[in-house]
This record gives sequence, C-alpha cells and structure tokens, in this order.
Amino acid sequence: MADIRMGETETFAFQAEINQLLSLIINTFYSNKEIFLRELISNSSDALDKIRFESLTDKSKLDSQPELFIRIVPDKVNKTFTIIDSGVGMTKSDLVNNLGTIARSGTKEFMEALQAGADVSMIGQFGVGFYSAYLVAEKVIVTTKHNDDEQYVWESQAGGSFTVTRDVSGEPLGRGTKITLFLKDDQLEYLEERRIKDLVKKHSEFISYPIYLLVEKTTEKEISDDEDEETKKEEEGDVEEVDEDKDKDKKKKKKIKEVTHEWQQINKQKPIWLRKPEEITKEEYASFYKSLTNDWEEHLAVKHFSIEGQLEFKAILFVPKRAPFDLFDTRKKMNNIKLYVRRVFIMDNCEELIPEYLSFVKGVVDSDDLPLNISRETLQQNKILKVIRKNLVKKCIEMFFEIAENKEDYTKFYEAFSKNIKLGIHEDSQNRGKLADLLRYYSTKSGDEMTSLKDYVTRMKEGQKDIYYITGESKKAVENSPFLEKLKRRGYEVLFMVDAIDEYAVGQLKEYDGKKLVSATKEGLKLDEESEEEKRKKEEKKKSFENLCKVIKDILGDRVEKVVVSDRIVDSPCCLVTGEYGWTANMERIMKAQALRDTSMGAYMSSKKTMEINPDNGIMEELRKRAEVDKNDKSVKDLVLLLFETALLTSGFSLDDPNTFASRIHRMLKLGLSIEEDETGADDTDMPALEEETEESKMEEVD
Ligand code: ADP
Repeated sequence: MADIRMGETETFAFQAEINQLLSLIINTFYSNKEIFLRELISNSSDALDKIRFESLTDKSKLDSQPELFIRIVPDKVNKTFTIIDSGVGMTKSDLVNNLGTIARSGTKEFMEALQAGADVSMIGQFGVGFYSAYLVAEKVIVTTKHNDDEQYVWESQAGGSFTVTRDVSGEPLGRGTKITLFLKDDQLEYLEERRIKDLVKKHSEFISYPIYLLVEKTTEKEISDDEDEETKKEEEGDVEEVDEDKDKDKKKKKKIKEVTHEWQQINKQKPIWLRKPEEITKEEYASFYKSLTNDWEEHLAVKHFSIEGQLEFKAILFVPKRAPFDLFDTRKKMNNIKLYVRRVFIMDNCEELIPEYLSFVKGVVDSDDLPLNISRETLQQNKILKVIRKNLVKKCIEMFFEIAENKEDYTKFYEAFSKNIKLGIHEDSQNRGKLADLLRYYSTKSGDEMTSLKDYVTRMKEGQKDIYYITGESKKAVENSPFLEKLKRRGYEVLFMVDAIDEYAVGQLKEYDGKKLVSATKEGLKLDEESEEEKRKKEEKKKSFENLCKVIKDILGDRVEKVVVSDRIVDSPCCLVTGEYGWTANMERIMKAQALRDTSMGAYMSSKKTMEINPDNGIMEELRKRAEVDKNDKSVKDLVLLLFETALLTSGFSLDDPNTFASRIHRMLKLGLSIEEDETGADDTDMPALEEETEESKMEEVD
C-alpha cells in the first residue's frame, strides 16, 4: 500500500532540449563547477524579490514567513549541500513547468554556445541556471511552498525524468524553496566552510538579502574531573578527553571540545550604490556587475552617480563587453535596470525607466522619492520617473563618450552596440545630435579604421558643402560603386553606410554640424561646376543626348521614372538613382527581406528609379548615334535592356528575373563569338530575353 502520508508521486519526462542540456552538463568536463552556487543563490534572490514586491501591495503575503533570507546548510555526514530561501516558492505547476517540461528560449542557444567552446559559467545568461546544480550533484531534491499551493517535492537524478510529489510529512517551509544537492563524491569541497564563504564573497557578495551559513563552532572548555560526569550528561556535543595531567595534581583537569552550530551571515549586504564612488575598487564594481547580470566577464564601463536637488536618486550603470545573444529579440521587451525605492527592490524591466535603444545598459536605480507601493500601472504617469529617465539617458551618453576616449574599448563597444546608437538616432530626437557624434563609418578615405562625422568634417574639401554617404549591403558592395566616381574624382569623401539600420538613422539625422547628409545614390546630387566654359559645354552635350534619353525611356517604360544625363558618373555607362524621398536600392533590399512590409507602401516607395546616363561613355555615344538614325533599331533596344539590368546590379538593386538577364548575356556572348543563332540548334523564338518587351513594343508598332 502506498504511504498515505505522502501524496501520489507523478513522473514527468524532461523536455527534449532540457534533457540534452542535462546530459551535456553531466557528461562534459568543466572545471568551473563552482558557479552552481552563484546560480542557485541568484534564483533565490529573484524569488525573494518577487515575494517582497508582492508584499508591497499586500502585506499579508509575508505572513507565511515574515523573514526574508537565504540559508546554506552543508552536511558532511550525508554529503548534501542545501540552500533554503523564503522567497515566493513554486506551485505544483510552476515546478513542473519551470524545472523540466518547458524549455526556455535560451536552452538551445546555450548548448550551441557550449559546443562552440563557451564556458559553462555563461549558463545564467541563458536562463537555465538551475540545471547547473548537476555540475556537482548526482541527485537534486527541491522542496517548495508557494502561498497559493501546498508544499511539493521535486526530485531527479537527471536520466530523462523527474518526479513531483505532494509533501505531506516533510518539515513545513512556511513559504519558499529548499534545494538539496546530493554531491558527487569528487565534489565534497563544497561542504567546506572556507570554500563556501569564498564563493559567496566572489560571486554573490552583493545579494541584497542576508545569506546565512550554518557553521560549526568548536569551543574548548577546561573542566575538573568531577564536573566531567555532569557535563557529559548535559552536553550533546562531542567530548574529547585531553590528558594534560603531567604534574601530579590530585585533581585531574580535563579539556573538552564542544561543537555547536550557528548561523553566520556571510555577505555584506550594504548596497554598493550607497557608498562613495571613490571608495569602491574596480574589483568591487566588477563583482557587483557580475552578481547583477550573471555575466562571466567584467563590464566594459561603469557610471556611478547620484542626483540631488528637487529629486534624489542614486544609480550605477554598466556597459557590458558584449551584446547578449537576444539583444534584438522583439518577443521580449525588456531592459536591464533594476528599480529600488529607498533600498527596497521594486522591479526589473521597468519600461519607463530607460528607452529601448539603451536596453543593453545594465544597472540599478534607487530613488528616494517614489512611493514604495508603486505599481506598473501608475509608473506610466509618474513624473518623477520621467525625470529619472531623462537623467539616465544623459548619463548613459556621457558614459559612451568616456568609452570613446579609449580607442580599443570603443571599437569593442561599437561592434557590440552600434545598432543601438543608430536606433537611438532614429528614435530619440532630443539626443540625436549628441548620438551622432558616437557614429563611426568606413569611408573612401578612412582606410582600416572607422571615422567619426566630426573627423569627416575636418577633412572636407574647400567648397564642399555636404557630407556624402552611400548605403548598401556591405563595404565591398559599395566601395567600387559607379555612384562614387565623380565624388572620388573631386576628392570628396564618401561614408559607407552598410548596416540595414543606417538607412533609418540617416533618414532621421538629415544633417550634422550644419551640413546636409547627401546620398550618393539619390536623385538631385548636385556637384558644383568648375567653370562657365565647362558648364556651357556640358549643357551642349546634354542637349545632344536628349533624344537618346527619350528613346531609352520609351524602351524601358514603367521600369524607370525618367532618364537623364548624369552629373555623377565618370566611367560607367549608366546608373539607377532613387528619388530623394523614396527608398534607396539598399532600403528596397531591406524591405523586400522583411516579410511583414506594407506592400502598397513598397509599390509607391520603390517605383521611383531614375536612369542617369553618362554622356562621356563610349557605349552611350554609340547608342546615341544609332538612335539618331533609327529609333526602332533592334540592337538599340537589346542594349538598353541589358544596360538597365546591369545598372540594377551595380546600383545595388536585385533582379526580379535573373534568367531573362542571363539569356540576354548569352545572346551577347554569341554575337561576340560570331556564333550564328541557328548553329546552336536553339530555337531563337524561344528566347524571351530579347522579345520580352513585346507587349509594349508591339503596341508601339501598332501605333
Ligand atoms: P532563470 O532563473 O534564469 O529563469 P533557472 O533555470 O535558473 O532560470 O530557473 C528556472 C525557473 O525556476 C525560474 O525562472 C523560477 O521560476 C524557478 N525557480 C528556480 N529557482 C527558484 C527558487 N529558489 N524559488 C522560486 N522559483 C525558482
């Protein structure tokens, strides 16, 4: 018969990815096993935060256990390591879901990172820290009590499954969670007091709840022989006889060792942000940063400040060295600033505290002015919060400028977070100007190092009014673009904007230091003429090409908005530019790649292409002559279509129909090789390539 004091035991299978993760943790050799303690303490601290937050609006939630603490019990006899917290606890379904059946988004990413050589200490960043218990334990038992449910026991030796049982007979926790690790035989070092204390100091010193360790105290007592008997009866501690009796005293004296247990608090707990910055060492900041973020690396930069006056708050902000794996994961809108009110933790992820583009900045804010019982709903209207937010943004930007003082650091920073800065330029109109100074780009003159806009301006040629840039898919794709020809020849520097988000950012920025930002690929790129004489010559030439422009436009039809003589190209025969306010080729590429784009917008924005032709190019000159003779010359039509499609490519657009393009090229190759059409055996009428335009051209002919 089943034991009636226990509830029924249910067995669950670990979700497949979690199971994989567990075997990776158990079977792979990691030297850095000690991090399990940091992970468990961090979970306890989170659970304590949760109940404390709930209690702000409903005090009675603490009744089940008024004290908030973390306790560690090493047990050398049973080889167990137990950590107890009086946090929020877990209901039965929390247990089943959180510890085994529902995989976090980070589970897979973490395994991939591990297999790519990452350190196991990264586990906390991926939201699967609990499982690190299996680095040191062969079996884990979790006992937990949530205010809304009974006490339950979770148990597993990994191996694919875990059990959950209602705990009827166990010692009641009141509220909270007790995790007992049955240590592997080679991991007994974690039962040593010294080792535990060192670990807590190293990884968890700044946990804002007291962490108590059950320590053994041995006191020596000197007692006379006759006292001894009584003592033995009274004391439960181990008694050891020490025979010191060398002098021949009649009365024997004895020393006994008395072992007692007591709780010792092993973390400092005074919040670091309350201390004076000049008294805090770099190591202390690093250790606080690590405990705050679960990062295994130190921070890149820190800003510790207090605001006084009408409103008072203290804050410490950190910039990490790397972007997290899910930085732009739109599913989770969150930031990394913890909000405290007069030392009491209020909440994580307070959206009103910092704009989205700064979500990579981590830290704490402790306000003296906000009410303790502030809720997420009332936060939105809160004026104090708005002021805090404004100050945080200002301090963040200051911090970025401090990073920029060191080139190496800034390169790291920019690699990781340039997208955020650009997002900021797009969204934060108030700070746009300042953020622009943080931008760095490669350019036609930058060489291997990126340049700032400020440096660009110092290099501007005399008479150069605007700042030129080109957008595209990669540095390689834009650096030899036909659009740059004339600008380069003039000695004008052109910035390479090759990040998708550059399109959006530059669209908002518009100018820097009073100078317009001008796209090299958009219509209306005006370069000043050299002399009156040259101007006149140019006009003349333009006139002579007017007819060709018309012919080309007729051939291309709706594919282009208009055809004009170019000012910007030197070598290439032609290029395709986009309207000043429409999308660039790069933007069209980006939008095509976005599945959810608004198609009507796409049609409107992407249709405005202007073909610019180069009157100094041999091909164009030849076309001009032929078109002069016969505007329906078939070879003209073929060439124009081929030129158009080639221009699509060199101007950064994509081909809708690469096969047609290829057919045209093949046909040209045959011509070049003087292969007769019929010699190949191919049926020429099958070639849509050259006759593709039949709809229009036929109509023209009918006309
Ligand atoms: P993370 O803590 O990053 O969410 P973990 O794998 O460490 O990921 O923990 C999974 C979940 O299990 C937690 O989100 C939490 O809901 C629950 N949990 C873990 N430890 C505790 C605890 N000590 N008290 C209450 N809940 C806990």
